[in-house]
Amino acid sequence: QVVTRFAPSPTGYLHIGGARTALFNWLYARGRGGKFLLRIEDTDRARSTPEATAAILQGLNWLGLDHDGEVISQFERAPRHAEVARELLAQGKAYKCFSTQEEIQAFREAAQAEKRSTLFRSPWRDADPSSHPDVPYVIRIKAPQSGETVIRDQVQGDVTIRNDQLDDMVLLRSDGTPVYMLAVVVDDHDMGVTHVIRGDDHLNNAARQMMIYEAMGWDVPVWAHIPLIHGPDGKKLSKRHGVLGAQEYQAMGYPAAGMRNYLARLGWSHGDDEFFTDAQARAWFDLDGIGKSPARFDLKKLENLCGQHIAISDDAALRQELEAYLAAAGLPALSATQSSDLERAMYCLKDRARTFPELVEKASFVLASRPIQPDEKAAAALASVSDGILRELTPHLQNASWTRDSLEEALNAFAEAKGTKFGKLAGPLRAALAGRSITPSVFDMMLVLGRDESLARIQDAAE
Ligand code: GLU
Repeated sequence: QVVTRFAPSPTGYLHIGGARTALFNWLYARGRGGKFLLRIEDTDRARSTPEATAAILQGLNWLGLDHDGEVISQFERAPRHAEVARELLAQGKAYKCFSTQEEIQAFREAAQAEKRSTLFRSPWRDADPSSHPDVPYVIRIKAPQSGETVIRDQVQGDVTIRNDQLDDMVLLRSDGTPVYMLAVVVDDHDMGVTHVIRGDDHLNNAARQMMIYEAMGWDVPVWAHIPLIHGPDGKKLSKRHGVLGAQEYQAMGYPAAGMRNYLARLGWSHGDDEFFTDAQARAWFDLDGIGKSPARFDLKKLENLCGQHIAISDDAALRQELEAYLAAAGLPALSATQSSDLERAMYCLKDRARTFPELVEKASFVLASRPIQPDEKAAAALASVSDGILRELTPHLQNASWTRDSLEEALNAFAEAKGTKFGKLAGPLRAALAGRSITPSVFDMMLVLGRDESLARIQDAAE
């Protein structure tokens, strides 16, 4: 069974790159009936905060990346990490090193002066245990000193590291706390992780982590180190490029489905497919499709995909997500009536809206109440027709049965009788019904609003 995990360090919000890593792991597991686990790497006590953990969980929740089982705290597992270090010690695969910082420093300086490798070689590696002084020590792994370590990476290919370039890494510090590298390996092993999909900034760590797997005789997971995300200018994504927090995209009004689709395409491809549903993403996602070069963040593409996802969304789900957006953005909540009106109108709002703010703009006709306050453009549209024309129109609408066909018929006939075209009346009618110029069609608005409300608004504007 496939088991993947997302292992964020809780030192800030959920970064867009982290969200993408989580998504890849989630897609890989979900597409294979596997498990997707969540581990909070909170061993850096000074920098880890509960607020950051909460923000990461919220971000994952918004994106719908549900995890299996409990959230694991790496810090809480420190005793288990120490146990593994001691096990390696007992097996002679690790050793106690009593070298002080000063001695290590002196070793390096001497090596530098003699132009030798400055990689620390501890004199305690092969020392007789009976010679151990009664002073604090660290536990170091006995790293292989010849040969090669090959990281068989599903994205980067085989990456070969010469073992004489690896030092005897510390596993347990002198205060008994485990180092990060040990914690990751022990956790991944104990959690049964089969595939490690993460940023390629961790590629070098993989070589050192493999030493621990091998020393313990554990199966090495499948590695997939994915290139980091770049900005549109090809430089590593940073604040200069805009918003980095995944959840800020919620507050800006991007729907989660569009965001998932976009993040999935950020570094992974499936033929020429740009737009796809979650089900397709789960079925298609694989490690072969992950590119070797960094993907570039492109807001236009995100918006475009979001628009397509809004257009195919279920009306009730979309209304619900829009309300969650309003809350995330700190905007006023909808009343119960507005909420049900909005859902009823959704069918004619969701085409061509790329974000929730655009959807709200189009929805203003159904969210507003009389008297409608026309904005500048709408006021100009009303001023463009001769006085009285809307008043004259009213009886014609009063007699029409309230269906699209008969409304269309009535408006066309009226326009013709006035020697004009319906197109000329559409602007002022939009203005009367919505007070805006970006709206659904006049017919959709009249159908959604109903006869009484539509006529009342037209009459208001006619005065
Ligand atoms: N905690 C690490 C990070 O946030 C991830 C480590 C890993 O995935 O192995 O970059």
